[in-house]
Amino acid sequence: MRSFDELLKESSTIHGHHCAGQVLGVRMAMVGCREVGIDEPKGCKKLVVYVEMDRCATDAVQAVTGCSLGKRTLKFLDYGKMAATFVNTETEQAVRVLAKDDARAFVPLYVQDSTNPKEAQRHAYRIMPEAALFSIKPVTLQIPAQEMPGYRGNRVQCAECGEGINFHREVKRGERTLCIPCAQGGLLAKSKGSSNIETTPKVLLIVGYKKVGKTTLIEKLIPELVNRGYRVGTVKHHHSDFPVTLDTAGTDTWRHRQAGAASVALATPTDIATFRDSDGSISLDRILASLGATDIVLVEGFHEEARAKIEVLAERKEEPLCKIDGNLIAFVTPSAHPSAVPTFTPNNIKPLADLIEREILGRA
Ligand SMILES: [Zn+2]
Ligand SMILES: [Zn+2]
Repeated sequence: MRSFDELLKESSTIHGHHCAGQVLGVRMAMVGCREVGIDEPKGCKKLVVYVEMDRCATDAVQAVTGCSLGKRTLKFLDYGKMAATFVNTETEQAVRVLAKDDARAFVPLYVQDSTNPKEAQRHAYRIMPEAALFSIKPVTLQIPAQEMPGYRGNRVQCAECGEGINFHREVKRGERTLCIPCAQGGLLAKSKGSSNIETTPKVLLIVGYKKVGKTTLIEKLIPELVNRGYRVGTVKHHHSDFPVTLDTAGTDTWRHRQAGAASVALATPTDIATFRDSDGSISLDRILASLGATDIVLVEGFHEEARAKIEVLAERKEEPLCKIDGNLIAFVTPSAHPSAVPTFTPNNIKPLADLIEREILGRA
């Protein structure tokens, strides 16, 4: 391994400036390589490094080890932690080097006469004992075959955007094979019908008077949409004034709530249930934000919201709730109902789901 000074000079050139992060990153990389028995990382094909933060020190780790994203030898885990795990793929030794959070606080112990805090930090990180700067722990880490640098795999095509997907990053949704942004949304999710990138789930309100079959309709729509590859969420608006609790008196979570917890989560191996105060205001936006990842959320109630909605009408000739609502996309009713929007009978689920796909989910 070349000298610390030589490596620091090189990494600062690559990084663009000389900073405390370079000092830390160079030392981190030197320690990591040493611990997994790699003396000269550059050009050696057996080192893989997992970095947990995209900051200055990450560039130093790359400069010292020669590992890079392009070579698939540098892996980025977006954990926001100043740590890197060094893996010798030949011997399977792996060690995680974590920069200690309190290292900065000890800077004055090592550099007393500096008026420049950044300079003091750079100098202190150079001379601090390894144990003061890092926590170094061996870890057990089996790199999956498809993550190995030389892995060759088939490219598949996303059924939604048509783009090629490598290294088994595809996701199955029902029968469909999708890329991660198409399946899960997020920053690069394909926008549908607008120039804005959509990150919020599509919402469809199922509205109507009491006991007209809203829940039954939702119950039928869920499997139909799930079979078409969508993740479906639901929200039920309960109007009653008396407090409703799903949490039974005497259970542990109920006792937590009684003791004054504002929110309680019950976690089992298959489900997570949360109970929390509504703060008096039931905002649909807030409720939607608290749901897990979904493609569409069917909301029972909230008819006054300005969102796409379907009204369920009973047989009797009632004035619809949404008589003059521009957000209404369909009626569901067993009886003929003259209207400006399409009308479906309650058992005619497939054509209704087609309409939802077209109007809400933006599928042609
Ligand atoms: Zn920097
Ligand atoms: Zn896609």
